[in-house]
Amino acid sequence: MDIVVVGAGPVGMTAALLLAREGHRVTVLDRDPGAPRGGAEEAWGASERPGVGQFRHPHLLLPAAFRTLVNELPEVVSELTALGGVPCNLLSGAWGLDAIGGRRPGDERFAMMAARRPVVEAALSTEAARTPGLTARRDTAVSALLTGHERVPGRPHVAGVLTRGGVAVHADLVVDAGGRNSPLGGMLRDLGAPGPVEERAETGFLAYTRYFRSTDGKLPQMPVWRVGHYDSLTTVAIEGDAGTWALSVGVSRRDRALRGLREPGAWHRAVALFPDVAHLAEDGEPISEIMAMSGMESRHRRFVIGGRPAATGVLSIGDAWATTNPLFGLGMSMGALHATALRDLLRTADPDEPEKLALRFDEFTRTSLAPIQQGLADWDRHRLAEIDAATRDVPVPYETDDRDWHFRRALDTAKLRDPELLRAFADIGSLLATAEETFTDPGLAEKVAELGRRAPRYSDPGPSRAELLTAVAGAAT
Ligand SMILES: Cc1cc2nc3c(=O)[nH]c(=O)nc-3n(C[C@H](O)[C@H](O)[C@H](O)COP(=O)(O)OP(=O)(O)OC[C@H]3O[C@@H](n4cnc5c(N)ncnc54)[C@H](O)[C@@H]3O)c2cc1C
Repeated sequence: MDIVVVGAGPVGMTAALLLAREGHRVTVLDRDPGAPRGGAEEAWGASERPGVGQFRHPHLLLPAAFRTLVNELPEVVSELTALGGVPCNLLSGAWGLDAIGGRRPGDERFAMMAARRPVVEAALSTEAARTPGLTARRDTAVSALLTGHERVPGRPHVAGVLTRGGVAVHADLVVDAGGRNSPLGGMLRDLGAPGPVEERAETGFLAYTRYFRSTDGKLPQMPVWRVGHYDSLTTVAIEGDAGTWALSVGVSRRDRALRGLREPGAWHRAVALFPDVAHLAEDGEPISEIMAMSGMESRHRRFVIGGRPAATGVLSIGDAWATTNPLFGLGMSMGALHATALRDLLRTADPDEPEKLALRFDEFTRTSLAPIQQGLADWDRHRLAEIDAATRDVPVPYETDDRDWHFRRALDTAKLRDPELLRAFADIGSLLATAEETFTDPGLAEKVAELGRRAPRYSDPGPSRAELLTAVAGAAT
């Protein structure tokens, strides 16, 4: 097939590489000027990606994304390693805890790779450039869809794209990997198609992040677990390639009092109050400003409406289909699963039956990925409500009768107290298994309830709300 992939982000490029290896002729079009390339520092410092707001924000290739690369695109892993990517394990920080008792056989499934996102993109671009059948054109924005004869009455059939420069690129299939601001919906509506139905959370999180580098190329001691929840915020510490790491503070968008974290002095004073991560803001030299990221609401788009595709000949993957809270670090993992499923479906799809392909792809998305996305969106909703309750003038405990939230919260708080619960939490959180697959043994669920009940809600020590606000406001604490 001739396939156009709109968007050269990590998911678009992964899909393009997988599809080209199947013998498809793949053209990737991206509106941004140049591919991140060169060594890690050049990729980090010199690449410009105005189309991707989170380009220099922390990204970790969690186990599902990393496993896809290892199994399907090992050359990308070699390239990443050559660029300074650091193999690591999701559980490694916890192995030293008495309650966890060290590494176990099977923990290799939690292998992952630490590398800054520009470095990940550089590795993908390098591999794309040497892949036969794959052409990537930058500085080429897609502005409209080309249509062919209708395959479903009343629905356009997409037969390629038109670039902003007026060049028509014909294709048997257009893969929309245009990211969270994908233009596909508007382009479909321009054709008279119903356009996707979008479901978007009312609010979300803001993250304030700074990247650091050590002077000796070594990483400082990372926290036992990379994500730490506190009453009014969440910290995320992520290692990168070549002795770099990032520290993020995630707050509710409704929590105006913490918006001052954008100011470097306030950010540093605040993170100094969290013993698990304070040293990460002191040990290295900053290699970024305090980067604020908003627009982190979870959202997904449905392209099959009333059992009929909005259009045939076009499918959305990755962030163009759905976004989740970045604090989970699952965007590239979900995208990798999406891209792999697309590749697999095309192996048996009849090119003359694009409606069937659209419906089968939708079925995979609905049954395999949408429940994950919905679960993460539910978690966000509860967590934001929990933060709201904790940050009132007179804080109140957050009450809800949603048993799923109570169970997940209990598992989260108990994970560092039991080796089996740690693996259960990591399997689910890495998309290696569903909760149903993980909790087949009723004894395990009982253990969650028992240990979760006894564990404090926030296991890590942190400041009181008043101390935090004082630090952000600038007075001595
Ligand atoms: C702050 C933050 C931190 C994150 N951390 C992690 C993490 O640790 N781990 C993880 O797995 N995920 C993480 N994510 C999610 C991750 O960034 C996304 O899931 C991932 O970028 C999706 O890749 P994509 O290829 O689908 O889209 P994108 O990376 O958004 O790429 C879309 C591409 O489409 C191009 N494009 C758009 N419109 C057009 C057009 N009209 N014509 C041509 N090109 C176009 C853009 O230029 C862009 O290059 C994070 C997200 C955020 C916001």
